[in-house]
Amino acid sequence: MLLKGAPVAAAINEKTRARVEALKAGGVLPVLAILRVGENEADMSYEKGAVKRCSSLGIGVKNVLLPADVSEAELLSKVDELNRDGAVHGVLILRPLPRHIDDARVRDALSPAKDVDGITEGSLAGVFTGSGRGFCPCTAESCVRILDHYGIDCAGLRAVVLGRSLVIGKPVSQLLLRKNATVTVCHTRTRDLSSETRRADLIVAAVGRAGTLTAEHVSPGQIVIDVGVNVGADGKLRGDADFSAIEPIVGSITPVPGGVGAVTTAVLAEHVVRAAEMFDNHSQT
Ligand code: NAP
Repeated sequence: MLLKGAPVAAAINEKTRARVEALKAGGVLPVLAILRVGENEADMSYEKGAVKRCSSLGIGVKNVLLPADVSEAELLSKVDELNRDGAVHGVLILRPLPRHIDDARVRDALSPAKDVDGITEGSLAGVFTGSGRGFCPCTAESCVRILDHYGIDCAGLRAVVLGRSLVIGKPVSQLLLRKNATVTVCHTRTRDLSSETRRADLIVAAVGRAGTLTAEHVSPGQIVIDVGVNVGADGKLRGDADFSAIEPIVGSITPVPGGVGAVTTAVLAEHVVRAAEMFDNHSQT
């Protein structure tokens, strides 16, 4: 079975659209600020997708572009300006940032209330404690929203997550744990990756290398969520899984493109609306 992202995104968007209307009826226009440094192609492509999604849902977008050689002080000052801007409810900082900028300092500078892509320590703490405070990184959340949409109950499943980044691997492992899966996290130091993945019920691949998951890594009936986005020599997008070799073996798999990536901007838009609702509630008390 193909776990397509489009129906998942459509279901999320339908609810988001109604919430945007309710906010607007109360005089609040939810707004996302997208802060981009430089002209990185992957950033521009993600920005384009986010703008399109937000606009189609009636969410305002404020694009902020800084040159690639911007100083850290200038960038921090821009983040501070967006934190204070009462007309902006969520801020998406496109990363990775240029190497001369301290990523942790920028993450720390962002107001947790506007951290709609879950990059601050406060948001990540919420993911780990399950407190519901803060926002989960959108891509990690998209993985479990796909599982939820297709009615896949994770309780008791043996889940193997490939990758341990703060953006995907670590938060997705926590989300799966909260859903009562038994979670193993693999990385570059994992010995005998294929023996770990073969005995899984559910594999989440978030590595960033095409062909990481081959036929020898999978077993019949497994669920595969492929988060990887890799551009091949032919210019085509591929996931971490060798799709044509794996798809006939496993039970279900997300395509790339058209899987996790299709859901991410829907989750982002939903987070912006939640941030605007919280802002609205706060300003009424
Ligand atoms: P990252 O920070 O580079 O992390 C990659 C992780 O994979 C690391 O933990 C690394 O292990 C592990 N890894 C690398 N090679 C491995 C191997 N051969 N076997 C097992 N583990 C291996 O990447 P990321 O930011 O998490 O992104 C991962 C992928 O998701 C990328 O392709 C990215 O483009 C994609 N992505 C997709 C979306 C979407 O919406 N679909 C959004 C964001 C990112 P170590 O920790 O040991 O180095």
